Amino acid sequence: MIELAAIKLFIPLRCEECGYCHDTIPLEDAHDSPVHCRECGAFMCAWEDLEQRRLARTGS
Ligand SMILES: [Zn+2]
Repeated sequence: MIELAAIKLFIPLRCEECGYCHDTIPLEDAHDSPVHCRECGAFMCAWEDLEQRRLARTGS
């Protein structure tokens, strides 16, 4: 089994299509990369949005 680099989310990201809750997402190089659901493949949000949420949460 291949372990992809992933980051842990402070706030789980729920897929609106299938309802799967992601507490980690694959690490992407580009900030404007789309984040897709691991279960159904639906587009959830852009990486940039998660970064902003993470920064807002940690305040750094
Ligand atoms: Zn899904």
